[in-house]
Amino acid sequence: MDDRDGWIWLDGKWVEWREAKVHVLTHTLHYGCGVFEGLRAYKTDKGTAIFKLAEHTDRLYRSAHIMNMKMPFSKEELNQAHRDAVAKNNLDTAYIRSMVFFGSEGMGLRADNLKVHVMVAAWTWGAYLGAENMEKGIRIRTSSYTRNHVNSTMCKAKANGNYINSILALQEALSTGYDEALLLDHEGYAAEGSGENLFIVRNGKLYTPETTSALEGITRDTLITIAREQGYEVIEKRITRDEVYVADEAFFTGSAAEVTPIRQYDNRDIGSGSRGPITERLQSLYFDYVHGRRNDHQEWLSLVS
Ligand code: PMP
Repeated sequence: MDDRDGWIWLDGKWVEWREAKVHVLTHTLHYGCGVFEGLRAYKTDKGTAIFKLAEHTDRLYRSAHIMNMKMPFSKEELNQAHRDAVAKNNLDTAYIRSMVFFGSEGMGLRADNLKVHVMVAAWTWGAYLGAENMEKGIRIRTSSYTRNHVNSTMCKAKANGNYINSILALQEALSTGYDEALLLDHEGYAAEGSGENLFIVRNGKLYTPETTSALEGITRDTLITIAREQGYEVIEKRITRDEVYVADEAFFTGSAAEVTPIRQYDNRDIGSGSRGPITERLQSLYFDYVHGRRNDHQEWLSLVS
């Protein structure tokens, strides 16, 4: 990742990709107290556009607020940095990563004397869970790791340290032959994937876990809107793992994962064991919206130039 041409926005300045480095005593590197975002930009017939930029920036600020990190830039400055990161790197389609992190002024846990840094980078990144799986669907397993507890890490924050739990779950899933993990909360209810929110379909209705211990996913929100506008009922509630076993369809959502069908869970076929018809319809609508192919919800798109 570090050895390529390009530009990264760091604290308001454009730094050459290979030079965008931090000191080994960077506080966030040691303790994981930082916040970040992941977004995508897509080709539309008006030019390349970032999907739901304002929503991601808002969440980044909420995350920083939760972690007591004082943002040194305005939202508009940051939005512009995102647009420029895509344009300056000549990308027509992109994944964008922004991060807010503490500097290396001190190692103490009090973290009250540290500079807050912000970076934005963009590069091309294909389908997160594999291109063929967007049609075929993925195989997932219940993680042996419980999702972060609401009073242990702050689940409304997209905080760096929260991802230890995700990485352990994903490593376990991959090393045992699955594509992704489903993490259950401390009471045993479905929470989310390592980097995705969960939806199931039963009898024509959509269900998704409440965001008690799951991230308030922006793609989750988009899917709820799209589905309701198409006339589907969407219910946010606690979901047990056996409700997922007997679902007609299931899928994950995320800015990186987009809308990824789930075909098997804990070695049980979900419905027919392939991408279901409602999943296919919503997935196709999602791709229409992100590519600006529909007239409504143009407000979801921010042209980069
Ligand atoms: N849950 C977790 C743990 C995630 O990392 C992500 C990806 N940001 C999501 C859900 C989906 O969120 P979004 O749709 O905002 O990308």
